[in-house]
Amino acid sequence: MHRMAEEGVGPPIYRSNSAPPPPPTEFSAKEERSDGRLAEALRALGLDDVRIISSSGERMLYSRDQSEIPRFMKEIMFNSAPTVVVQPRSESSVSALLKFASSHRVPVIPRGSGSSPFGGSAPVVGGMVLDISVMDQILAIDVHRLTARVQGGARWADIDHELEKLGLALNTCPSSKFSTVAGWMATGGMGLNSYSKGHLRESVQAASLVTPDGWVRKMDRGDPLFSALFGSEGQLGVITEVTLSVRKRPEMSRPHLIMFSDFRSALSFAYALGSSDVGPAHIVYESPLKFSLVNRMLGGERFTAEHGIIVNIEGKDSEDRYQQFVKSSDLKDEKEYLARYMWNERFFPMKMRKYGPGLLGSEVVMPLKILPDSLQKAEDLCKELGLEPLFEVHFLNDGNGLLLCYYITDQGNTISFTLDAAKSMILTSMLIDNGAKPYSIGIWNTAFTNAEEKAQLTRLRDAKAKLDPGNVMNTGKYFFLSGRFGGVLGTAFSPGIMRPALKTMRVFSPLTMRLMRTGYKFAERKLKPKTRTELLKIADECAMCGACVSVCPAYLIVKDERVTARGKLLTVKALARGDKITKEHSDRTFLCMRCKACEQVCQSKLHLVDAFDKLEKELEELFGKDEKEIEKFIRYAESQPEFDKLVERGLVVGAPTHGMGGERDEV
Ligand SMILES: Cc1cc2nc3c(=O)[nH]c(=O)nc-3n(C[C@H](O)[C@H](O)[C@H](O)COP(=O)(O)OP(=O)(O)OC[C@H]3O[C@@H](n4cnc5c(N)ncnc54)[C@H](O)[C@@H]3O)c2cc1C
Ligand code: SF4
Ligand code: SF4
Repeated sequence: MHRMAEEGVGPPIYRSNSAPPPPPTEFSAKEERSDGRLAEALRALGLDDVRIISSSGERMLYSRDQSEIPRFMKEIMFNSAPTVVVQPRSESSVSALLKFASSHRVPVIPRGSGSSPFGGSAPVVGGMVLDISVMDQILAIDVHRLTARVQGGARWADIDHELEKLGLALNTCPSSKFSTVAGWMATGGMGLNSYSKGHLRESVQAASLVTPDGWVRKMDRGDPLFSALFGSEGQLGVITEVTLSVRKRPEMSRPHLIMFSDFRSALSFAYALGSSDVGPAHIVYESPLKFSLVNRMLGGERFTAEHGIIVNIEGKDSEDRYQQFVKSSDLKDEKEYLARYMWNERFFPMKMRKYGPGLLGSEVVMPLKILPDSLQKAEDLCKELGLEPLFEVHFLNDGNGLLLCYYITDQGNTISFTLDAAKSMILTSMLIDNGAKPYSIGIWNTAFTNAEEKAQLTRLRDAKAKLDPGNVMNTGKYFFLSGRFGGVLGTAFSPGIMRPALKTMRVFSPLTMRLMRTGYKFAERKLKPKTRTELLKIADECAMCGACVSVCPAYLIVKDERVTARGKLLTVKALARGDKITKEHSDRTFLCMRCKACEQVCQSKLHLVDAFDKLEKELEELFGKDEKEIEKFIRYAESQPEFDKLVERGLVVGAPTHGMGGERDEV
């Protein structure tokens, strides 16, 4: 049990260790009974704090993460539907579940908020998805030692909110503040403040990993396996607890924006600034397309469509030095409100996908010294491939940069979407052949596993052999991709086969493009532009990022994603495909408080409540609607502390917004 005096904890501890009470069962939208042999066997374990999900409607939500995959590929290549999903509330239950899975050789797929874009938390050979996002408590904040001890499923926005009350702040976090601590640890680690605070590994002091044999391994920085946890992608076990280093909240923070006519001048400025005594917290480069798209969204020429460097400065001294530096460089800052707008945009990197609707791209890490050359090559290759790319570079303090290259696609036309996806692999392969490393592997970067840093790869391979000899953790991913055809898929995606194939396509890009053009023409002729209802259009514009899940009061009570905006938009897609849904599924969809918290944080700025009205109308025609039951649920939900917390944070419309990126689109 956590001892406050010893840990020097200040006043508030976010959420108590006790789980919220289960939802009352008198609603018509009660739990569907989970069936199937695996669900039955899990129920027989008698774990009271584990929700076992086996209804097809709810399992469907766990068959993907944020990445969009052409459906036919998903269905032909993988068994992406989990056999069962479990939501454990305690470390001891995680341990019992893993022990069971190991002894019955059931693949286990750990999942946080499912926001990774590479397929890391999507099953490839079925199995048991272990949804750790319900273990979301902040266990202790030590204001003296500057640490926060949290459960693995705690979300960055929640931790930051509690720290702010104590005058503290996170060292670093991803711009997906709605994602989980363990999820980011297992897959990314480069995000906001990476320039001043480095990779996440610099800010983690200790972690607990439940290994497949059910052992809870408490690790600190001295543990030989500690560093293998970062980028482990669910291969070693389930991270259940993390101790983070935190810091005093800076007295001020001020973003700046400077525009340049070419990218080389912009990058040179960033390098010079980085090696000066200014000490910026974050430096990011944005290419002209970003500013054009922002103008388009705002409906006016607020920004010049040039190459921009956004710098975030924390602290008065650093700000003074920055002002001095800019003056001596003979440059001029854009107006502060423009800089603030662009800095706030960091929370909405996927907004532009609505113009496809769809977004594809490539994410790699590379030494800054090869960055200008790589950018030029990427731009040239994109031209040859007929792509209009948007480049973004986040500068890191170890001489590397995280390069993101996105382009808009239409995910509605399966053939052209598949061809566009192939282009993203061609682009990644070029960057990697040029000296970059993949930023995470998941499913889609399996071909580039051998480009990972050798030491990291060896560390992970050795740790895997030691901790998961039965290979139940995230089976069929990272080292060798599996799917419906066993070894065939793995061989095709193996670095030895796929990388030379991609290189050939690149070297013969005129021929590749000629063949692709034939494909696009065929797609246009055969797959007429998809006629989308207004509702399906909104569903296709959804980035499937999951930001709305973390703030939905209905979800916080029932823990069933079907009540959230992401879940409802997936229901829209399912109905459009003609999939069967059950009355229970429909009943769950009506559990909505119209609080608009989802709209406040939505990546794609969708008018979600209008969409819910339309969906509910369709469902009412099919299954009916029980107004009284819905009213009962809303009254119950409004009386819960989870709802009060959302009001306090300003996420319920009418209250001021908190830093989840809920600010409005006005400049
Ligand atoms: C709008 C947006 C902004 C983003 N910004 C950033 C950014 O700034 N920086 C960045 O790096 N990424 C970013 N991402 C990508 C993604 O959000 C991060 O990788 C994220 O932190 C993943 O966390 P998650 O909880 O969603 O994990 P998931 O996507 O659910 O899982 C990711 C991987 O971790 C494994 N995993 C999850 N939980 C556990 C656990 N408890 N134990 C062991 N393994 C586990 C999964 O098996 C999977 O392999 C962004 C994504 C979006 C949609
Ligand atoms: S309106 Fe509120 S209750 Fe309804 S889906 Fe959005 S966040 Fe959830
Ligand atoms: S509705 Fe908005 S916040 Fe929710 S998953 Fe879709 S884009 Fe993300």
